[in-house]
Amino acid sequence: MFVLSILLEIVIRMPYNRIRQHTNVATDRVSATEKALLGVMTLGIFFLPVIYIFTDWLRFADYRLPFWLGIVGIVLVGLGLWLFWRSHMDLGRNWSPSLQVMEGHTLVAEGVYRTIRHPMYASQMLMGLAQILLLQNWIAGPTGLLLFLPLYLIRVPREEQMMSEQFGADYRAYMARTGRILPRLVRG
Ligand code: SAH
Repeated sequence: MFVLSILLEIVIRMPYNRIRQHTNVATDRVSATEKALLGVMTLGIFFLPVIYIFTDWLRFADYRLPFWLGIVGIVLVGLGLWLFWRSHMDLGRNWSPSLQVMEGHTLVAEGVYRTIRHPMYASQMLMGLAQILLLQNWIAGPTGLLLFLPLYLIRVPREEQMMSEQFGADYRAYMARTGRILPRLVRG
Protein backbone atom coordinates (compact mmCIF):
# COMPACT_ATOMS: atom_id res chain seq x y z
CA MET A 1 0.00 0.00 0.00
CA PHE A 2 2.74 2.43 0.95
CA VAL A 3 4.81 1.79 -2.18
CA LEU A 4 1.67 2.15 -4.25
CA SER A 5 0.90 5.49 -2.60
CA ILE A 6 4.44 6.80 -3.32
CA LEU A 7 4.04 5.76 -6.98
CA LEU A 8 0.59 7.40 -7.18
CA GLU A 9 1.99 10.65 -5.74
CA ILE A 10 4.65 10.67 -8.44
CA VAL A 11 2.04 10.01 -11.15
CA ILE A 12 -0.33 12.72 -9.79
CA ARG A 13 2.48 15.29 -9.79
CA MET A 14 3.88 14.42 -13.22
CA PRO A 15 1.62 16.61 -15.43
CA TYR A 16 2.10 19.60 -13.09
CA ASN A 17 5.88 19.26 -13.32
CA ARG A 18 5.48 19.33 -17.10
CA ILE A 19 3.26 22.46 -17.05
CA ARG A 20 5.79 24.10 -14.77
CA GLN A 21 8.60 23.61 -17.26
CA HIS A 22 6.66 25.81 -19.69
CA THR A 23 5.74 28.54 -17.18
CA ASN A 24 8.09 31.37 -16.24
CA VAL A 25 8.82 32.13 -12.60
CA ALA A 26 8.07 35.74 -11.56
CA THR A 27 9.30 35.67 -7.93
CA ASP A 28 11.63 33.14 -6.38
CA ARG A 29 12.01 32.86 -2.57
CA VAL A 30 13.63 29.44 -2.43
CA SER A 31 16.29 29.55 0.31
CA ALA A 32 19.25 27.22 0.89
CA THR A 33 17.74 26.14 4.23
CA GLU A 34 14.56 25.15 2.47
CA LYS A 35 16.40 23.15 -0.19
CA ALA A 36 18.31 21.32 2.56
CA LEU A 37 15.10 20.60 4.50
CA LEU A 38 13.44 19.32 1.31
CA GLY A 39 16.34 16.89 0.85
CA VAL A 40 16.11 15.72 4.48
CA MET A 41 12.35 15.24 4.10
CA THR A 42 12.87 13.05 1.01
CA LEU A 43 15.00 10.79 3.20
CA GLY A 44 12.02 10.37 5.56
CA ILE A 45 9.20 9.99 3.07
CA PHE A 46 11.03 8.02 0.38
CA PHE A 47 14.50 6.53 1.05
CA LEU A 48 13.92 5.12 4.55
CA PRO A 49 10.53 3.58 3.58
CA VAL A 50 12.12 1.99 0.49
CA ILE A 51 15.03 0.58 2.57
CA TYR A 52 12.56 -0.71 5.18
CA ILE A 53 10.28 -2.35 2.63
CA PHE A 54 12.90 -3.89 0.33
CA THR A 55 15.71 -4.89 2.76
CA ASP A 56 15.84 -6.34 6.27
CA TRP A 57 18.42 -3.82 7.52
CA LEU A 58 15.96 -2.00 9.78
CA ARG A 59 14.18 -5.09 11.20
CA PHE A 60 15.86 -4.64 14.61
CA ALA A 61 13.72 -1.50 15.14
CA ASP A 62 10.31 -3.01 14.29
CA TYR A 63 7.25 -2.41 16.43
CA ARG A 64 3.88 -4.12 16.23
CA LEU A 65 0.51 -2.38 16.20
CA PRO A 66 -2.95 -3.96 16.36
CA PHE A 67 -4.40 -4.93 12.97
CA TRP A 68 -7.16 -2.29 13.08
CA LEU A 69 -4.58 0.50 13.26
CA GLY A 70 -3.22 -0.80 9.95
CA ILE A 71 -6.72 -0.37 8.51
CA VAL A 72 -6.82 3.20 9.88
CA GLY A 73 -3.46 3.73 8.12
CA ILE A 74 -4.93 2.60 4.80
CA VAL A 75 -7.90 4.97 5.22
CA LEU A 76 -5.46 7.84 5.96
CA VAL A 77 -3.42 7.00 2.82
CA GLY A 78 -6.65 7.13 0.80
CA LEU A 79 -7.65 10.49 2.28
CA GLY A 80 -4.13 11.88 1.90
CA LEU A 81 -3.89 10.83 -1.75
CA TRP A 82 -7.31 12.30 -2.50
CA LEU A 83 -6.33 15.63 -0.94
CA PHE A 84 -2.93 15.59 -2.72
CA TRP A 85 -4.69 15.02 -6.06
CA ARG A 86 -7.46 17.61 -5.48
CA SER A 87 -5.01 20.30 -4.36
CA HIS A 88 -2.94 19.78 -7.53
CA MET A 89 -6.10 20.01 -9.64
CA ASP A 90 -7.21 23.20 -7.88
CA LEU A 91 -3.80 24.92 -7.96
CA GLY A 92 -3.20 23.94 -11.59
CA ARG A 93 -0.50 26.04 -13.21
CA ASN A 94 0.07 27.97 -9.95
CA TRP A 95 1.72 24.92 -8.38
CA SER A 96 5.44 24.87 -7.72
CA PRO A 97 7.45 22.61 -5.43
CA SER A 98 8.90 25.60 -3.58
CA LEU A 99 8.26 29.24 -2.82
CA GLN A 100 7.66 30.79 -6.20
CA VAL A 101 5.13 33.04 -7.85
CA MET A 102 4.64 32.09 -11.48
CA GLU A 103 3.93 34.44 -14.36
CA GLY A 104 0.15 34.94 -14.54
CA HIS A 105 -0.23 33.51 -11.01
CA THR A 106 -3.81 33.67 -9.71
CA LEU A 107 -5.08 33.32 -6.15
CA VAL A 108 -6.93 30.03 -5.73
CA ALA A 109 -9.61 30.19 -3.01
CA GLU A 110 -11.98 27.52 -4.28
CA GLY A 111 -12.19 23.73 -4.21
CA VAL A 112 -10.10 22.31 -1.36
CA TYR A 113 -8.60 25.80 -0.93
CA ARG A 114 -11.99 27.23 0.06
CA THR A 115 -11.68 26.34 3.75
CA ILE A 116 -7.97 25.63 4.27
CA ARG A 117 -4.89 27.42 2.91
CA HIS A 118 -2.51 24.45 2.84
CA PRO A 119 -4.37 21.31 1.71
CA MET A 120 -1.25 19.92 -0.01
CA TYR A 121 0.77 20.18 3.19
CA ALA A 122 -2.21 18.72 5.09
CA SER A 123 -2.13 15.77 2.66
CA GLN A 124 1.57 15.24 3.50
CA MET A 125 0.67 15.15 7.19
CA LEU A 126 -2.04 12.55 6.56
CA MET A 127 0.49 10.45 4.64
CA GLY A 128 3.00 10.96 7.49
CA LEU A 129 0.48 9.69 10.04
CA ALA A 130 -0.32 6.74 7.77
CA GLN A 131 3.41 5.98 7.53
CA ILE A 132 3.59 5.57 11.34
CA LEU A 133 0.71 3.07 11.22
CA LEU A 134 1.72 1.16 8.09
CA LEU A 135 5.53 1.01 8.33
CA GLN A 136 5.75 -0.40 11.85
CA ASN A 137 9.37 0.51 12.48
CA TRP A 138 10.92 3.16 14.75
CA ILE A 139 13.27 4.34 11.99
CA ALA A 140 11.07 4.16 8.87
CA GLY A 141 7.70 4.89 10.53
CA PRO A 142 7.75 8.28 12.33
CA THR A 143 10.55 9.90 10.27
CA GLY A 144 8.25 10.95 7.40
CA LEU A 145 6.16 13.18 9.65
CA LEU A 146 9.08 14.26 11.87
CA LEU A 147 11.19 15.40 8.93
CA PHE A 148 8.27 17.12 7.21
CA LEU A 149 7.39 19.27 10.24
CA PRO A 150 10.49 21.56 10.21
CA LEU A 151 9.94 22.27 6.51
CA TYR A 152 6.26 23.02 7.17
CA LEU A 153 7.01 25.32 10.12
CA ILE A 154 9.65 27.29 8.22
CA ARG A 155 7.86 27.42 4.90
CA VAL A 156 4.30 28.33 5.81
CA PRO A 157 4.96 31.81 7.32
CA ARG A 158 7.25 32.65 4.38
CA GLU A 159 4.72 31.35 1.85
CA GLU A 160 1.90 33.37 3.45
CA GLN A 161 4.13 36.47 3.51
CA MET A 162 4.93 36.00 -0.18
CA MET A 163 1.28 35.46 -1.10
CA SER A 164 0.17 38.47 0.91
CA GLU A 165 2.78 40.67 -0.83
CA GLN A 166 1.56 39.34 -4.17
CA PHE A 167 -2.21 39.46 -3.59
CA GLY A 168 -2.48 42.10 -0.83
CA ALA A 169 -5.87 42.59 0.75
CA ASP A 170 -7.37 39.67 -1.21
CA TYR A 171 -4.97 37.22 0.44
CA ARG A 172 -5.39 38.76 3.88
CA ALA A 173 -9.18 38.45 3.58
CA TYR A 174 -8.69 34.85 2.41
CA MET A 175 -6.48 34.22 5.49
CA ALA A 176 -9.16 35.63 7.77
CA ARG A 177 -11.81 33.15 6.56
CA THR A 178 -9.64 30.01 6.32
CA GLY A 179 -7.42 27.90 8.55
CA ARG A 180 -3.94 26.63 7.76
CA ILE A 181 -4.62 22.89 7.67
CA LEU A 182 -7.95 22.66 9.49
CA PRO A 183 -11.07 24.67 8.59
CA ARG A 184 -11.81 27.59 10.91
CA LEU A 185 -14.59 26.72 13.30
CA VAL A 186 -15.69 30.28 13.99
CA ARG A 187 -16.08 32.59 11.04
CA GLY A 188 -14.71 36.00 12.01
N1 SAH B 1 0.67 25.65 0.53
C1 SAH B 1 -0.25 25.19 -0.47
C2 SAH B 1 0.41 25.14 -1.85
C3 SAH B 1 1.65 24.29 -1.94
S1 SAH B 1 2.49 24.45 -3.52
C4 SAH B 1 -0.83 23.87 -0.05
O1 SAH B 1 -0.34 23.26 0.90
O2 SAH B 1 -1.81 23.42 -0.66
C5 SAH B 1 3.43 25.90 -3.19
C6 SAH B 1 3.12 27.07 -4.09
O3 SAH B 1 1.74 27.26 -4.17
C7 SAH B 1 3.68 28.39 -3.55
O4 SAH B 1 4.91 28.67 -4.16
C8 SAH B 1 2.62 29.44 -3.87
O5 SAH B 1 3.06 30.24 -4.93
C9 SAH B 1 1.43 28.64 -4.35
N2 SAH B 1 0.21 28.89 -3.57
C10 SAH B 1 -0.02 28.64 -2.27
N3 SAH B 1 -1.29 28.96 -1.91
C11 SAH B 1 -1.89 29.42 -3.05
C12 SAH B 1 -3.21 29.91 -3.35
N4 SAH B 1 -4.17 29.97 -2.43
N5 SAH B 1 -3.45 30.29 -4.64
C13 SAH B 1 -2.49 30.23 -5.58
N6 SAH B 1 -1.23 29.79 -5.36
C14 SAH B 1 -0.93 29.38 -4.11
